[in-house]
Amino acid sequence: MADKTYYIETFGCQMNVHDSEKVRGMLAMRGYEQRASADDAQLILYNTCSIRDKAEQKVFHRLDLWKRDSKGKKIGVLGCVAQHNGESIFETAPHVDLVCGSASYNQLPQLLDRLDAGESRVTGLNLDTDETFDLPVAERDNPHSAFLTIIEGCNKNCSYCVVPFTRGPERSRSSASVMEEAARISAGGIADITLLGQTVNSYRDPSAGWSFAKLLAAIGELDGVRRVRFTTSHPQDFTRDIVEAIESNERLCDWIHLPVQSGSSRLLASMRRTYSRDQYLRVIEMIKAANRQIALSTDIIVGFPGETQQDFEETLSLLQEVEYASLFAFKYSPRKGTDSMDYADHVPEEEKKERLAILQGLQQRIQRKLNERRVGLVEDALVEGYREKFQQWIGRTTQNRVLNFADPEGIAADEELRGAYCNVRVTKAGPNGLIGELVSVEYRPRAARSSPALHVLQ
Ligand code: SF4
Repeated sequence: MADKTYYIETFGCQMNVHDSEKVRGMLAMRGYEQRASADDAQLILYNTCSIRDKAEQKVFHRLDLWKRDSKGKKIGVLGCVAQHNGESIFETAPHVDLVCGSASYNQLPQLLDRLDAGESRVTGLNLDTDETFDLPVAERDNPHSAFLTIIEGCNKNCSYCVVPFTRGPERSRSSASVMEEAARISAGGIADITLLGQTVNSYRDPSAGWSFAKLLAAIGELDGVRRVRFTTSHPQDFTRDIVEAIESNERLCDWIHLPVQSGSSRLLASMRRTYSRDQYLRVIEMIKAANRQIALSTDIIVGFPGETQQDFEETLSLLQEVEYASLFAFKYSPRKGTDSMDYADHVPEEEKKERLAILQGLQQRIQRKLNERRVGLVEDALVEGYREKFQQWIGRTTQNRVLNFADPEGIAADEELRGAYCNVRVTKAGPNGLIGELVSVEYRPRAARSSPALHVLQ
């Protein structure tokens, strides 16, 4: 391709956001320049998500925009929709030139060469790989917080999930490679690191035998690191040593995202989640017994096939028992190729909608109650942005709560605070976050690059 300009748009989860950063790094090494608009680029890449039908439809809607006239541009579909739909994308969208799943991203340079050589309908769909997408990241989306993939794929085989088909089997990176990248991130002035993996705590070092807890603890000890988070954890692999690592180093954040999906053991078995309600609650009990107050968040699927009113009420009672600080709840969306697609007794859409609203209403009340307990406390907030309209800085606490704050006494002397860590007194609480006032600036970042354009859609 003589014109080496590209545009990339990302749909879905943090794994995809970070994959796009790595794709950008790879393209930069090959002399490509990123453009903020698809109209200005010769190569258009959509890094896609297929976890729900709606996300997949968004991608095809984008592709439709180029159907009549792709203006000589090369169009590539990356990620989960690419892997899940494979070559059939060429039937639905004949103007697409490249289809590549995330397990084949290492092959992207060769695939682009083939496009350059005039080939069309080029694919990278091999899932049968031991490799991880272990590329240096040229530019991270956020100058103060970094994602770091430590494990890819999943072996868990939940009955509703496409991930094992779209991202392949579980592959952990070596601890040496992870530590090297983490050290590079912190040396570059980024103090907040989020370890990523579909089941991040299933990590097992393929070379040195490090457990996830050992890796977590080691990253927390690196110079320049102030916060380490990880997502997403699987309850089956959530062991006591992870809690011990958090207890012994306050740089490891007081927040754990532990998807439960349902409060009913009957449905958990049908989902093949590998734990019962009681087993999940025992893990929660262990986390709550920690010597630090660890906030919890979770994912819930509402209206899974066969979910009765009784099952749903068990989910509501689990919410009341655990008291999550936040919740991601979704209506069940049947996905092609999954076992649950063929399950009988699908819950009517209206019923799903109603249950979702009830669940979210309960969660809002729980969040308000938990947030109100923070009023009067001084919290450590990482500043992520500024809300001009309200003249407030946007912060995030170690418990992953949003804490927006003003500086009525001019303590920051109108200086830029993005990337800084501040002590903030909480003055108000609502269901979705906290409001406060700046007490002091604890730490300012060394380097502050401006954010490059990365288009992300959820
Ligand atoms: S553990 Fe998560 S990623 Fe793996 S199959 Fe289950 S839902 Fe999908």
